[in-house]
Amino acid sequence: MANAPLRVIDFHTHPYRPGDLAPATWRFIQSISPAVREHGDRLEDAGYVAGLLRAQGVERAVVLPEHCPDSSGNVRTETVIELCRAAPDFFLPFASVNPNTDPDPAGLLRRYVREGPVHGLKLYPSYQFFYPNERRVYPIYEACVEHGLPVLLHVGTSVIPGTRLRYCDPVHLDDVAVDFPELPIVMAHGGRGWWYDACATLASLHRNVYIDVAGLVPSKLLEHFPALERLADRVVFGSDWPAMPKSVDHNARRIASLGLSSEATEKILYRNAARLLGLEGGGGGAGR
Ligand SMILES: [Zn+2]
Repeated sequence: MANAPLRVIDFHTHPYRPGDLAPATWRFIQSISPAVREHGDRLEDAGYVAGLLRAQGVERAVVLPEHCPDSSGNVRTETVIELCRAAPDFFLPFASVNPNTDPDPAGLLRRYVREGPVHGLKLYPSYQFFYPNERRVYPIYEACVEHGLPVLLHVGTSVIPGTRLRYCDPVHLDDVAVDFPELPIVMAHGGRGWWYDACATLASLHRNVYIDVAGLVPSKLLEHFPALERLADRVVFGSDWPAMPKSVDHNARRIASLGLSSEATEKILYRNAARLLGLEGGGGGAGR
C-alpha cells in the first residue's frame, strides 16, 4: 500500500525566474531549495522542469505568476503562459493581477483568459496589500466565475520582507465565500502560522472553500488539521516547488502515510484538484 503508485496533481508551483524576484525572495529560495542547488539555471528550461516533476510522479502542475512589484517579485502572467508552452499537456498556468497597480485588474484577467490558456487566478493579499473582501476586488471574482476559474489566495505567514499579514486573515474570505457561492476559493498554505483552525472552519462551513497544503510540513498536517479525514473533500496538494526543503515525491508520500483512508488520500493528492481544474473525464481544462 505504501508503495502503490500515487496519482498527484501539484496545485502550487512557481517558475524559476531569479531575475524577476525581489532579491530577498530569491535568497530565501536558494537557501531552502535542494532542487535549485542541484539543477541551478537548467531550471530556466520549463521542459526540463516538466521532466523533473514527472519523474517524481506529478501528472499536472499549476504554475503561479506573482505580480507583487512592491514585495516578493514581479513574475508576470505573460511570462508564465509563455514558459508553460514548453509542456502544454503538463503545466497549468494561472494568472496574477494586482488590484493596486493594475488600473483594470478584472479586464486584464479577461484578456489573459482570451489570450491564455489560463486555468485559475492567484491573488496575494499580504504582498499586494488589499483585503480580499473589499468591494473594489469583486469584479475580479466576477470574471473568475464567468470563466469558471478557481482563485488561489496566499493565506498565512511568510518570511518575505514587506509582507503585511493583516491582509491575509482568513476571516475576510468568509464574505467572498458567501457573496460568490459558485467561486472555488483555495487558501494557499492553509493559514500557516496561527490560522489553521480558522481555515479548517471556513473549509468545513463553505462548500466552495478549500485548503492548499503548500509550504506546510506534511508530517505535521494532522497537528494543524486534526479533522483532515473529514475535510478531505476540501484539501488540495501543493508543493511550493522549487521553494521547498524536500521533494514533491517526498511530500506526497508523507501525506499518503498519514493514516488517512485511501479515498481521502486520493482526493487530497489528485481528485479535488482535477475537479477544480476541470480535468475530470480526460478533458484538458484549457480555455475554459
Ligand atoms: Zn507559493
